[in-house]
Amino acid sequence: MAVDEEFIIEQLTKADLIGDERGLISFFGTYLTQIYADFSNKMFFRFQKALTPHLQKAAGVLLANAVQECGYFTFRGFIDSPDWEALMGPMIDTDEDMLYALVALCNVFGVGKLKVKELIPGERFVCVTYNSIEADGYLKEYDKSDKSQCYTLTGLSAGLMDLVYGREFPHGLNTFEAIETKCRAKGDEYCEFVVKRATF
Ligand SMILES: [Zn+2]
Repeated sequence: MAVDEEFIIEQLTKADLIGDERGLISFFGTYLTQIYADFSNKMFFRFQKALTPHLQKAAGVLLANAVQECGYFTFRGFIDSPDWEALMGPMIDTDEDMLYALVALCNVFGVGKLKVKELIPGERFVCVTYNSIEADGYLKEYDKSDKSQCYTLTGLSAGLMDLVYGREFPHGLNTFEAIETKCRAKGDEYCEFVVKRATF
């Protein structure tokens, strides 16, 4: 059975994502918190702009890598949950199905709807989005950027490949690396993330 993304999104958007008294949201075997997009955007952008120009590129790599690590462990928690098995299990026969299911789940969180453009199993993954909240947030606050600004989706796209094609968990982190080759924050029509095996 192929992965039915629209069905997954329809089912999960019915979920009652209300935090408990500590603000924690129980979801797919893990705990999430809800934060305003503007808050995370400003935190990421101002962190970089507080640095000297020659450190800003390195800061962007570190931000994406932090998301990659967070996504790797959080999404593994989702995969191990009974909720995942109940909803996704019947749709997943191959590693590629698993990647598409992870992308569908990623698309529930509202950071930008990813669409798979290319997948070479175990080697390369290219995805695009027209509505990254980071590109929107950047353009709301600043003039057009001279570099890509979507660190969350850059990190997540690599983290998902780590989970599917990396070594057995938890040793697969950083098997892949991603770069954002197009970004609306710098004037492109859409954001594009290219993931390939890490060279470091
Ligand atoms: Zn972007």
